[in-house]
Amino acid sequence: MSVATAKSRGARRFANLAETTHALLRRKLGTSRDAGVVGRPHGDTRDGRVSGIRGHADGKTVSESARVVIGADGRHSLVAKSVRPAQYHEKPPVQVSYYSYFSDLPSDAFEVYIRPHRGWAAMPTHDGLTLVIAGWPIAEFDQNRKDIEGNYFKVFDLLPAFARRMARAKREARFAGTSVPGYFRKPFGPGWALVGDAGYNKDFITGMGILDAFRDAELCTSALDATFSGRSPFEEAMLIYQRTRDEQALPMYE
Ligand SMILES: Cc1cc2nc3c(=O)[nH]c(=O)nc-3n(C[C@H](O)[C@H](O)[C@H](O)COP(=O)(O)OP(=O)(O)OC[C@H]3O[C@@H](n4cnc5c(N)ncnc54)[C@H](O)[C@@H]3O)c2cc1C
Repeated sequence: MSVATAKSRGARRFANLAETTHALLRRKLGTSRDAGVVGRPHGDTRDGRVSGIRGHADGKTVSESARVVIGADGRHSLVAKSVRPAQYHEKPPVQVSYYSYFSDLPSDAFEVYIRPHRGWAAMPTHDGLTLVIAGWPIAEFDQNRKDIEGNYFKVFDLLPAFARRMARAKREARFAGTSVPGYFRKPFGPGWALVGDAGYNKDFITGMGILDAFRDAELCTSALDATFSGRSPFEEAMLIYQRTRDEQALPMYE
């Protein structure tokens, strides 16, 4: 039985990241959506310069001008779709995973199990629930999507002791599943910048997305500070942001 088990407070938190941390961060920091504004960049379409956003809030049209519009709007970034940045180091999705939350599945560690063409992890999360995520190669996506629940539970047969634990557990949420492509995008241009998943994305199996998004936000704001305070031209400062992001992200990405 080859089982990798990581036991740490950091690992324990992993479980909550996809949902709880997002909710907490939103509550703490807010997003433009929370503020009730959903918009797309506007500007001079001739040279691709962005000069603000136009959107709506409370049924009214909202128009805001800005020196730089920051697209921190995730994988389906409207800012990125509008400015169409150069994309590089692209990778198609490599795997698809499904997860749900279970009660009566005690776990006090971050458990990871790797088998040929299968992998799964279990981790304690909030409200006494354990998150269990299981995945298989993207090549099996079409075939297996016909019976997600059946194929999900079949994965655990690869480790009878775990299958027995799952048999005693109760599923408390519907299955969620996804696969994501990998990409790097040029994260700046005239009047716009991209941070987080909007500018760079990798398979979520790495569990690095939130940390990387914070890193990008820090690098990007430092570059903008250098620009707005006159210490460095926009292009130069943002190029440092892009290079630093790429240097730090690439080893994990590859
Ligand atoms: C299944 C799954 C599991 C994951 N698990 C982990 C994990 O355990 N650990 C980890 O670190 N990462 C994980 N990730 C990755 C992580 O979720 C992302 O990398 C991270 O959330 C990126 O943050 P972000 O702020 O760039 O984008 P997002 O978190 O996607 O936030 C974008 C925000 O922009 C808002 N928005 C979008 N469009 C507009 C608009 N037009 N106007 C206004 N607002 C808009 C959205 O509502 C959203 O609030 C997981 C991803 C997936 C898919």
